Amino acid sequence: MQNNWIIEDNLLDTSSLQKNESIFHVANGYIGVRGNFEEGYHTSTPSIRGTYINAFYDDVPITYGEKAYAFPETMQKIVNIIDVQTIKLQIGTESFNLFDGQIKQFRRFVNLQEGVYTREIHWISPNGHELKITIKRVASFTTLELLAVEYTVEKIDCNETLSLYSTINGNVENYTNPNDPRVGGSHAKLLHVVNTTTTDSYDQIVCATKHSNLEVCATTTHLLSAPCTINKEVKDAEVAYTYTFDSTIQKVTLTKYTIFTDTRRHKDVAHCGAELIKNIMHTSFESICADQKSYLDNFWQVANINLEGDDSLQQGLRFNVYQLLQSVGKDKYSNITAKGLSGEGYEGHYFWDTEIYMLPFFILCNPTLAKQLLTYRYTILDHARKRALELGHKKGAAYAWRTITGDECSAYFPAGTAQYHINGDIAYTYIQYYLATGDYAFVEEFGAEVIFETARIWLEIGHFHKGAFKIDAVTGPDEYTAIVNNNFYTNRLAQYNLQWAVKWYALLKERSPEVLSKLTHKIQLTEEEISLFEKAAQTMYLPYDQELGISEQDDSFLSKAVWDFENTPKENYPLLLHYHPLTIYRYQVLKQADVVLSHFLLEDDLSHETIKNSYDYYEKLTTHDSSLSCAIYSIMASKVGYTQKAYDYFIETARLDLDNTHNNTKDGLHTANMGGTWMSIVYGFAGVRIKENLISFNPSLPANWTKLSFNLSYQGNIIHVSMTPSSTRFSVQQGQLNIRVYGKDYLLTETTPLEVSSTTA
Ligand code: BGC
Repeated sequence: MQNNWIIEDNLLDTSSLQKNESIFHVANGYIGVRGNFEEGYHTSTPSIRGTYINAFYDDVPITYGEKAYAFPETMQKIVNIIDVQTIKLQIGTESFNLFDGQIKQFRRFVNLQEGVYTREIHWISPNGHELKITIKRVASFTTLELLAVEYTVEKIDCNETLSLYSTINGNVENYTNPNDPRVGGSHAKLLHVVNTTTTDSYDQIVCATKHSNLEVCATTTHLLSAPCTINKEVKDAEVAYTYTFDSTIQKVTLTKYTIFTDTRRHKDVAHCGAELIKNIMHTSFESICADQKSYLDNFWQVANINLEGDDSLQQGLRFNVYQLLQSVGKDKYSNITAKGLSGEGYEGHYFWDTEIYMLPFFILCNPTLAKQLLTYRYTILDHARKRALELGHKKGAAYAWRTITGDECSAYFPAGTAQYHINGDIAYTYIQYYLATGDYAFVEEFGAEVIFETARIWLEIGHFHKGAFKIDAVTGPDEYTAIVNNNFYTNRLAQYNLQWAVKWYALLKERSPEVLSKLTHKIQLTEEEISLFEKAAQTMYLPYDQELGISEQDDSFLSKAVWDFENTPKENYPLLLHYHPLTIYRYQVLKQADVVLSHFLLEDDLSHETIKNSYDYYEKLTTHDSSLSCAIYSIMASKVGYTQKAYDYFIETARLDLDNTHNNTKDGLHTANMGGTWMSIVYGFAGVRIKENLISFNPSLPANWTKLSFNLSYQGNIIHVSMTPSSTRFSVQQGQLNIRVYGKDYLLTETTPLEVSSTTA
């Protein structure tokens, strides 16, 4: 049986090298380093070399052929920062390289319980020198600035001199690909070196960005296990060391610690880097690994899901959850980028992906990090207010479709700025967090202001028409349909946003009137606006097709021709890379779940029939060209009782990056999908929904699984859920909780776990 805590590669297949650079990246939410080989490659081998800091960016100009009013003029782009990956090994006159000589064994792996990425190599050089090389990397979860590398060479049959060559290099560039809209097309050179300092105990390179006036610093120290001669070369952009060991030395270990600091978080990057490295250089690599392990022990205590009956899915599931942790920003400047910190796809931007796909995991498994992510949206609220004014709105907040610091970075407004639903997504998730945690202080401090300001936008972009509130000219989640009137998803989320603005207004009025009065004064919110919110919510137009018995995606969707799927060759997917957007917009064809997603998020006002009919109708039209799609179809297949489909879609999500099914894992992992995998288990197979006063479950286990168990953090408590084919068992860590299972309410207490038979479903 495979150990499904371990992600492993032992094939050294050159066609999957770039993909594996993403899979084996190490990150901790602050820094991310791709899994490039320390020794490098032959020049013909493609590789995307990268090290990133979450939210560390440069501004680059956007060039438009035809620019219209309020188009963003610049956009932010994550920067590939100072490279410290290089460590080359020289054996006499030969250089170690995995593509020369003979490999007796090659294995690279990450143990998800330990958080250490290891490469183990048993190699014979072209001249017959036999060595074992073990390289370990840690992006520390406990000292976020730290990247620790341990490089060990052991001689098996070799009497040559060994040399290790290690660099800190400020001469770096971003990766670009002008032919793929999902990757940056230009602006490779964003950093230049401003200072290089070397001391006896560490070396530093400080680089600055071209336009955003930010600085980043790498402070590196090298520790050697055996005596050696040291040669140090300092050039403008690089510090290079060569450590040479006497031929009699059998085993050497080089430990390389780097502290990354940046001016968004650290006032004086060089000073902070020096202080931090001084603390860390007396810490052994083993003890860094021990801290990593105990951090992860804590994390997995709640986050682990045990799935019995399918090892490869269990592995995919754990890998995906682990990547959420590697990706999540842990300070007020950062969030989760669409690719985590594993690559440059989508230029390090934050999207609605965080709220709708990743926050559910954090809300129910790590509310502290969830709060952090939500607070980030509060810190950029002023940018959203400014954007609303630029867009011609009188008040409210219009959150950027894609951004780092809050400014709109989308150059293609039909699939960018027009996705006003991001306002509703943020509001929805603020409410989910509150319902799951009961954190009222959060509502007072951040929540109410965000909900009021996002709600205001709907009044700005909508209007009353023949007694109904309608919202025109928006794009819903499905980017294969753009700029439409009354997108069902948008209208439904807007309605929810407005309803909760009214509710929170009443709640604050009752529980903390002084907080409310301060806030209403600050944002000039009036009772009349609240009444309008209520009226718009009550009369919100939600398009419905009587004949088909489905929610209509928007006013015009159902009258378009259906895409000719039969005559679309397989190689023409994803459609966005093969057809002009206008061609796609003319047809009924979906990139990703839209109506079906809204039915998942907000199900209470819908009949089961509408949900099922809509699922059947839209599924046939959905290409799943976006990786955000399959998880939602899995969840909703569980909901409508299509157990096999739920399982098939789950397989798609669980192994999407491990198996590179979208063929672009090289540009970075699909982080939203990873949150989706967790959701497919918890919201799909266990049927969890967070309701206003309780949490409800609707378990249905796929046929070939024998057991599925997981934990949820809810209202300050931990619920343990264990599903088998015959029943589901619930227990709670302390006190008592109301839960609903298959529509029936129970009181779950610390002393009396509950077991509900599947036959009651
Ligand atoms: C999807 C968007 C998503 C973006 C970033 C696009 O392909 O259509 O919904 O936000 O990728 O992941």
